[in-house]
Amino acid sequence: MSANIPFGDLRLQYRTLQAEVDEAVRSVLERGWFVLGKSVAEFERAFAAFCGVQFAVGVGNGTDALQLALMACGIGRGDEVITAPNSATFTALAISSTGATPAFVDVDPGTYNVDPQKLLAAITPRTRAIMPVHLFGQPAAMEPILSLAKSHGLWVIEDAAQAHGAVYQGQHVGAIGDIGCFSFYPSKNLGAYGDGGLVTTNNQDLADKLVMLRNGGQKTRYDHRLLGINSRLDEIQAAILSAKLPYLDRWNDRRRHIAALYTAILGDTDLVLPEEAAGGRHVYHLYVIRTPQREDLQKHLAAQGIECAVHYPTPIHRQEAYHWLGLGPGSFPVAESLAPDLLSLPIYPELTDTKVRQVANAIREWSTLQRRKDPATEEIA
Ligand SMILES: *Cc1c(COP(=O)(O)O)cnc(C)c1O
Repeated sequence: MSANIPFGDLRLQYRTLQAEVDEAVRSVLERGWFVLGKSVAEFERAFAAFCGVQFAVGVGNGTDALQLALMACGIGRGDEVITAPNSATFTALAISSTGATPAFVDVDPGTYNVDPQKLLAAITPRTRAIMPVHLFGQPAAMEPILSLAKSHGLWVIEDAAQAHGAVYQGQHVGAIGDIGCFSFYPSKNLGAYGDGGLVTTNNQDLADKLVMLRNGGQKTRYDHRLLGINSRLDEIQAAILSAKLPYLDRWNDRRRHIAALYTAILGDTDLVLPEEAAGGRHVYHLYVIRTPQREDLQKHLAAQGIECAVHYPTPIHRQEAYHWLGLGPGSFPVAESLAPDLLSLPIYPELTDTKVRQVANAIREWSTLQRRKDPATEEIA
């Protein structure tokens, strides 16, 4: 019997908001102004207020948000930026696109975020910034990161692409470092119906530069002051995001409820479950479990119609595109040992408790079978 539980289904959310979203799109179409207008300005104000920052600048996507943040800080050729080796490769590509070189720090085996204890050793005379990633929706350990950055004169640029609405010691992510970068890729906690991104900051000078840099470096039309790029959030996506933003906290609460349900049902299995660091609000962009039999479990679930995903199969420094960095196997042992063992379970606000239980019980069943297996047979297999 097939449970028919996909890893994600964006149609479900659209159905709950269809009237508001359709109206948002229609009003932009009728206004006839599609790039950098009233809807973008409105959404920037609303998202800045949501995060508790002074400035928000809408851009084309999350990767560009990171690139523009680095450009605004004056980072480029000859500079190094430290980030997490287990993030989406796009994090490092944003660094590379400025001409700077990505450097990595291994992650904490409990939270999967950058291990602040290992940061100091990664700082070189060329290091200009630290780019912590709030991976899977869990805030990185910002306090030690900020203090190290301060003592070494480094910028802190948060990759908050997976963590809209996450909170660290009372502050929203995106409001903690010098700049915060968000993606509105459709499946993110707050998603557009296409690409979108945004940069947050409390620094007026950085905000002024970001506004120019996203728009060809123009101060006013045809007056190019900086070597900018073309990366703007469009009016249709901004209007859709404004319609969705009021639901974000509720959706994140629902994600946290689903996570708690998974954790309650899977608590007595041999699987390693997500660990929530104290003093933060994890928003569970992904619910990621760990098992050395990842492939077997994924197949077992797929056979029952339950779709899972892997984030991410290859650490960034082991990607072919980054072979030139010369970071061979063993460079970041924790990240490398996690990659083959992590499995992301379905988690989205529209997933019902019944379906969450179905997934969790299918995993329990598999786990019981694993325990019963004769270790000798397992070795032969
Ligand atoms: C999605 C994502 C990005 C890239 O965002 P895009 O909008 O797809 O360019 C960067 N970093 C992380 C951690 C992400 O999850």
